[in-house]
Amino acid sequence: MNLCTRCGRKLKDAKSIKREFGPVCYKKYQKELEEIGTEDNQITIDEVEETV
Ligand SMILES: [Zn+2]
Repeated sequence: MNLCTRCGRKLKDAKSIKREFGPVCYKKYQKELEEIGTEDNQITIDEVEETV
């Protein structure tokens, strides 16, 4: 389906459909990825599972 993964809106242009994000949501998504990336450097999912 040609819907934005983030907000569920219909995507009209081919680029957005390929990314599965609208232009605005894609920018937000990339920012989030950067933030997640810095967290990953501090602690990994494997480490969390071992302690629990
Ligand atoms: Zn969206």
